[in-house]
Amino acid sequence: MTRIIAHVDMDQFYAAVEMRDHPHLQGKPVIIGSDPKQGQGRGVVSTASYAARKFGVRSGQPIRQAWQLCPQGVFLPVDMERYALASQQIHQVFQRFTPMVEALSLDEAFLDLTASQKLFGSGLEMAQQIKRGVFEATRLTCSAGLAENKFLAKTASDLRKPDGLVVVPTGGGREFLAPLAIGRLWGVGEHSEPVLRNLGINTIGDLDAYPLDALARHIGARAAQDFKALARAEDVRPVEGSVAAQSIGRENTFEEDSRHAPLLRSTLMELCEDVAHRLRREQKEAGRVTLKVRFTGFETHTRQALLKPGTAHGPDLLAQVRPMLDAFLQSDARKVRLLGVSASALKPLQAQVQLTLDEGSQQRRRLADVALDAVNARFGEGTLKPAALVGPKGIRHRTGFSK
Ligand SMILES: [Mg+2]
Repeated sequence: MTRIIAHVDMDQFYAAVEMRDHPHLQGKPVIIGSDPKQGQGRGVVSTASYAARKFGVRSGQPIRQAWQLCPQGVFLPVDMERYALASQQIHQVFQRFTPMVEALSLDEAFLDLTASQKLFGSGLEMAQQIKRGVFEATRLTCSAGLAENKFLAKTASDLRKPDGLVVVPTGGGREFLAPLAIGRLWGVGEHSEPVLRNLGINTIGDLDAYPLDALARHIGARAAQDFKALARAEDVRPVEGSVAAQSIGRENTFEEDSRHAPLLRSTLMELCEDVAHRLRREQKEAGRVTLKVRFTGFETHTRQALLKPGTAHGPDLLAQVRPMLDAFLQSDARKVRLLGVSASALKPLQAQVQLTLDEGSQQRRRLADVALDAVNARFGEGTLKPAALVGPKGIRHRTGFSK
């Protein structure tokens, strides 16, 4: 049976939220990310508005480079609360059409609409309704791609931004892909693109026509097979329903790269507490925790651990990620630029405390969390912290800036 997959991607999302809420920013080069500090800042660009992109500013770019390219830009800190609220509103619209929603980030998702046709009409009609629904809910535009698989849908959504809608007709994927630049093929990146272009492969169609064995000699058998399949528009991966994809995370870029273990550990603890607090606020618990470590020079590593049972408690997260950090520090002599902790495999927070031998201590911990959250909600974030976070090496090491 032919599937109907939509990929929906908000246009310049963080910047769009800022421009919606501060109309005088409309059309300006708005750059959301860490503090550029007159070109001395650390950290990266989260989102650049289209006007900023004209100056060459891109998300993921070091913020100081963005400042050099566009010193007249309006630099704003990430205001995750507001973006998360818009994201929730968008997801509520998606859920009206299908429960099969795979969120890739706050502002991007795959929707499997195959089973929704009887209720809502053709794929095209649904895509139009979704775009309208998103705009009505948020006053923000999105771009959508509609196709029989994920790769085609995601490729299509990117072609006519902003406010675009591109439909790839069923069976027409191969022709649709053929004229597109080879860099649009999933998995083709900094390393492989020059190799392919050297072989005269400039479009996806060129790759489709290139003999498999010859390709395998240059990029390896596995990559050659994967690329050839994608170029034929073959992608059978399912849209992974709502459980898996969502995550709640926090990152900290240090003012100066550091190997000072007490600072790294207290930062890690703080990140865990913060992620746990957000989990509880969302009434969620995590089944998985991920540590991200970026060393000097941008090389980034991640490690994951399963959490059994699920948890929304900072020390439980820390118990998993702290040994991972120690292992990284032992195996790598470089300084650390960034630490991040994220919680995923989210489930509704268990309201009832399980009757186990551990019941007393679990209950006490939950009550302590509830009290902590309540005081912070009443008197402001950071009023109360676990004891180990209070002290000279607390949050002052964070980047962050106010206008
Ligand atoms: Mg987007």
